[in-house]
Amino acid sequence: MPEQLTADQQTLARRAADFARDELLVRTPSPGSRDEVIKASKAAGFYTMTQPVEFGGQAASALDLTIVRDELSAHNPPLLDAVFGPGPGVLAGVAEPLATHYLKPLLAGEKRAGFGFTEPEDAQRHTWAELDGDEFVITGGKGYVTGGADADFINTLVDVEGRGKTMIVIDTEATGVTIEQKFASLDGSHHAAFRFDKVRVPTSHAIGGAGQGLPRAMRQIGDTRLMFAAQCIGLMRWTLSYLAENLNSIGRNGKPRGESEVMRLRYADLRIRAYAARSMVYRTARLADRGENIVNEGIACKVFATETIGDIVDEAIQLVGGNALILGHPLEALYRRVRSLRLAEGASDILRVNLSRGKLDLDMGRI
Ligand SMILES: Cc1cc2nc3c(=O)[nH]c(=O)nc-3n(C[C@H](O)[C@H](O)[C@H](O)COP(=O)(O)OP(=O)(O)OC[C@H]3O[C@@H](n4cnc5c(N)ncnc54)[C@H](O)[C@@H]3O)c2cc1C
Repeated sequence: MPEQLTADQQTLARRAADFARDELLVRTPSPGSRDEVIKASKAAGFYTMTQPVEFGGQAASALDLTIVRDELSAHNPPLLDAVFGPGPGVLAGVAEPLATHYLKPLLAGEKRAGFGFTEPEDAQRHTWAELDGDEFVITGGKGYVTGGADADFINTLVDVEGRGKTMIVIDTEATGVTIEQKFASLDGSHHAAFRFDKVRVPTSHAIGGAGQGLPRAMRQIGDTRLMFAAQCIGLMRWTLSYLAENLNSIGRNGKPRGESEVMRLRYADLRIRAYAARSMVYRTARLADRGENIVNEGIACKVFATETIGDIVDEAIQLVGGNALILGHPLEALYRRVRSLRLAEGASDILRVNLSRGKLDLDMGRI
């Protein structure tokens, strides 16, 4: 678990903690500060950890990424999303022309990608395409594309007639692509809903072969689930430290607030759950680095870590009291931020159903 880190991994953890203190906590979010963090992250050697070796990246192990995400998040800093460079996502290992025109500029930060998986609420049919010579003709839409309004292209899950679910790169500037709505969610992130009206896309924009669309999309979602879980365990550490400080402070009766046994019972429960979450995420990262299939363990981590951070922040607000709900209070801000994690990249109950299917139908997964 975290304790069994090598000397190099302990150094990595310390470097991440220093970076959070010296480069993130000192800044307030703005386009300028984002660029400063990117520059500092490149200099500190974190930026390329998520990028493939053949494109100058480090392709860091799941455990190293977990260590850095855990340490950074344990400081609850701003601008966390600027630390790592864009990863290849579903474009990993694509052939030409996608490699030159999409993957390379994506990794260099010259183009931005969106991920189009969720169908609009009113969709009568899954986004589909028919083949016309060497072109797909795509009709439908995607309802919740993070960063969609600024994206140059969307990696989109499309049901292609005769080929099945296929991931296809769609340029946002292509004729027939419309942004129907731009919106923000509770956590402060921005999204767009797209409509595709007979959008013509070359068949060379298919990512991988026929039938590889869903497995590729699921792999991308699987990586993001472990990322969410690693961030959550760091945020649990931050919240519990904040709460410990509050409980050690003197209350209205002149005694430390945490002297009350009820407070202590509640605080202990939160620590027990954080300990379990942190242990499972590190174990799963180690399994991933051994090359094992961690689909079920990744699901378990995502569900448990995102629900636990939600409960911990909620309970911390309850124990700190009304001040924690004043707009701008760190717990109030964190409450809004972590709520979306139980829906994004797979709603908790849908993942629970998948986990049971993994065991009952496929005999997969560990305890
Ligand atoms: C911050 C944020 C960012 C997002 N970014 C993206 C993005 O970039 N790209 C993208 O494609 N999508 C994105 N999404 C959408 C996200 O993937 C979906 O919200 C999520 O998959 C749930 O789908 P849904 O909202 O359509 O809800 P539904 O599928 O309607 O589910 C709602 C609820 O119904 C129940 N339910 C539904 N189906 C089942 C089932 N099979 N078994 C058990 N219970 C079920 C569950 O309680 C579930 O929580 C994002 C969402 C958020 C909140």
